[in-house]
Amino acid sequence: MQTSTRNELLLKRSLAAVWHPCTQMKQHEWLPLVPVARGAGCWLYDFDGRRYLDAISSWWVNLFGHCNPRIGAALADQLGQLEHVLLAGFSHEPVVAPSERLARATGGALGHCFYASDGASAVEIALKMSYHYWRNRGRPAKTRFVSLAGSYHGETLGALAVSDVRLFKDTYAPLVMASSQVASPDWRLAEKGESARDYAARCAAALEQHLQQHHAETAALIVEPLVQGASGMAMHDAEYLRRARAICNRYEVHFIADEIMTGFGRTGSFFAHQQAAITPDFLLLSKGITGGYLPLSVVMTRGAIYQAFYDDDVTRGFLHSHSYTGNTLACRAALATLDIFDGEQVIEANRARSARITTAAQAIARHPRVAHFRNTGMIWAFDVQTADPLFTRRFFAHALERELLLRPLGNTVYFMPPYVIGDDEIELLAGRTVELLDALPAD
Ligand SMILES: *Cc1c(COP(=O)(O)O)cnc(C)c1O
Repeated sequence: MQTSTRNELLLKRSLAAVWHPCTQMKQHEWLPLVPVARGAGCWLYDFDGRRYLDAISSWWVNLFGHCNPRIGAALADQLGQLEHVLLAGFSHEPVVAPSERLARATGGALGHCFYASDGASAVEIALKMSYHYWRNRGRPAKTRFVSLAGSYHGETLGALAVSDVRLFKDTYAPLVMASSQVASPDWRLAEKGESARDYAARCAAALEQHLQQHHAETAALIVEPLVQGASGMAMHDAEYLRRARAICNRYEVHFIADEIMTGFGRTGSFFAHQQAAITPDFLLLSKGITGGYLPLSVVMTRGAIYQAFYDDDVTRGFLHSHSYTGNTLACRAALATLDIFDGEQVIEANRARSARITTAAQAIARHPRVAHFRNTGMIWAFDVQTADPLFTRRFFAHALERELLLRPLGNTVYFMPPYVIGDDEIELLAGRTVELLDALPAD
């Protein structure tokens, strides 16, 4: 069969049989699906050999490239030993080893790992655990949660309840529990002349005001540390996290760090919250945890919280589970991912790589159509000034024509490349993005 026919056939069958995520399917009448036959490093290829630079790490999950030989070899080895076993009442080496290693990465502060299969489930678990902790400690009135304006914590009903992205949430409002939102420390919202740090302090004061009033019924604050991803890569000063941590302590409210996107070196440190030198009560990880290979998430917490569930009474225990909790293959991929971090000085190498990308992107930062060029670690974002209501989809389509996989969030274009992006690929990404900006129609 001719390869182009294989592409077309795949798309036709996909549109007939697969309901694609986060998509108004009717748009595929004019916006074609992208067929992917294989991947290697930062590149995705269709059946014709047409290629796309995966500048968004396939929805922020990929760390060390597609078809990474080390992760692949670990999985192949694991496939010959054990693919999966239930985790209730059973254990296996691939789940124990990453739990120990992740605990060590928190300096031993968060020594208990509870596993699930995706980010939203980790959020659900943290909310339930926080509430249940307070209940076990004789504070059953603590049933409410606080999050930041513009926060994103996933799409299941509990995760949606603490999210603040109207496009995803409004339709389901009658199904979703009430939660409170406080000001986001997103530095784009600072007053003229106000530093990101001063603005962060002002937002922390607003949080304190809220908790002063509502701490008695509030179980936890949930935050995406340093970068609020899905609502447009809003970045904030670590000062917010430092102050929010202290405020949560003062008012006996848990601090949940949703590092589902920011974890595993994405913001320049292994965990984003480490840049504020704080310890959260709950740390949520997913996305990069398996290097982008298999679905897995984990909720990490402190000994004191774990102890509040440890009892002769079954119902004081955390009776939550998913069928694939702690899946052996996914955990083995996580272990292989942690091995790469340990063996290859990834964080240090990324520091140099990040500087090279920022240098290569100077023409973007200075482009007349660009506002708020920003960078944290291995994330870059900028807002494109355009009146085109179809900008998001048009830019995506035009980027594909230039071999780039870029998927803007509204008018925000961002780069979140795998950590193996090379110098030639960096030049290509930056150069072609400038071409895309130059080609924008005048408003
Ligand atoms: C992606 C994401 C989630 C949800 O994870 P899923 O695996 O998509 O359910 C939650 N929080 C943050 C910060 C995320 O980026």
